[in-house]
Amino acid sequence: MTDQSQQPAPDCPECGQTLTFIETVISSGAFRTQAENMPQIPIHYYDCDACGTCWKLGTRLLPDPVRQIARDSR
Ligand SMILES: [Zn+2]
Repeated sequence: MTDQSQQPAPDCPECGQTLTFIETVISSGAFRTQAENMPQIPIHYYDCDACGTCWKLGTRLLPDPVRQIARDSR
């Protein structure tokens, strides 16, 4: 069995550095009215310490603009 908290960190698509794991959130990725018909997908959040980009990994590794804005405004 794979422990969800021990996900191997992917490499940053921007700069190639290993990303830092932040947290995992279970999400259907759908609006509430559709959620019960959707599979529940764990979304893993990562930050890149090298280039400062925030990422989220669901089915694919994608930039996370919401957390990026929060991080930039700190
Ligand atoms: Zn990076």
